[in-house]
Amino acid sequence: LTQLFRPLDMLGMVYRTIRQGLIDMAEMFKLMDTSVEVSDAPNAHALDLRRATVVFDKVRFGYEDNREILHGLSFAVEAGERVAIVGPSGAGKSTLARLLFRFYDPQGGRILIGGKDIRSVTQESLRSHIGIVPQDSVLFNDTIGYNIAYGREGATRGEIEAAARGAAIADFIERLPEGYETEVGERGLKLSGGEKQRVAIARTLLKNPEIILFDEATSALDSRTEQDIVATMRSVARSRTTLTIAHRLSTVADADRILVLDQGRLAESGSHADLLAQGGLYAEMWTRQQAEREDLSDAAE
Ligand code: ATP
Repeated sequence: LTQLFRPLDMLGMVYRTIRQGLIDMAEMFKLMDTSVEVSDAPNAHALDLRRATVVFDKVRFGYEDNREILHGLSFAVEAGERVAIVGPSGAGKSTLARLLFRFYDPQGGRILIGGKDIRSVTQESLRSHIGIVPQDSVLFNDTIGYNIAYGREGATRGEIEAAARGAAIADFIERLPEGYETEVGERGLKLSGGEKQRVAIARTLLKNPEIILFDEATSALDSRTEQDIVATMRSVARSRTTLTIAHRLSTVADADRILVLDQGRLAESGSHADLLAQGGLYAEMWTRQQAEREDLSDAAE
């Protein structure tokens, strides 16, 4: 019988190896900041960023020809400003982020960073100035140190540790028996959603971009972890231009400005207090989320 099972064992191993290889490849493609949809203009030059402003100027975009998602979206973000982007599901928040990182080009209007149309600069230089902390970060099957260092080639150990401290994950890493050499990912230590997001923040800190786009997790984190991450992001945001896509309004109530997107249009914009006073979509979303939170805390009692 063992004779019979040995080839099956082998097959299982081969299958697992191939499957793991495919996972590694898929992760690599997700992480590689390249897009097949856009290419550098023949005369593209490196983006020289003096003031990290972000402007969407009448941006029109749809993934498919017959379905426009953003209908002439315009807004401007000042250098160093902390802006939140909120709105109902499907409003176009993630789409806006993908356009900013130039995974796609708009079909109408333009996007300017530091006053330059992002289509006129090299993708590599554009992406070196923008850091993205995604909702669900992908980790390489490698050490936690390597996963942070991925933010910048040639980073020293000291720089990696400083980034980990900035992302408030250094203590956690130092308590692991193998510290920065601990293997993570599919084959190693499984990190929680909050820990993964901290690795992504550390990666971004190491890259040290002038503009950070933070895509808040929809539901993965418990409220304590969420508050910790929000506090970390707040300190990271100092002296940088940050755009935060937020699902829970409470995490961005203190943003310099909140942009409310609805069905691919800018519905409202202002501070939390302004928007509550307007009594529009934001105020409605706020009231609903507050009621949900009260329900939740009632249920917890
Ligand atoms: P959520 O808060 O649920 O994440 P969102 O505001 O980020 O929503 P988007 O993800 O930008 O919304 O999606 C806007 C619209 O674009 C949706 O109707 C969605 O179905 C569509 N869409 C998103 N990605 C693609 C894609 N790759 N191909 C085609 N349509 C897409």
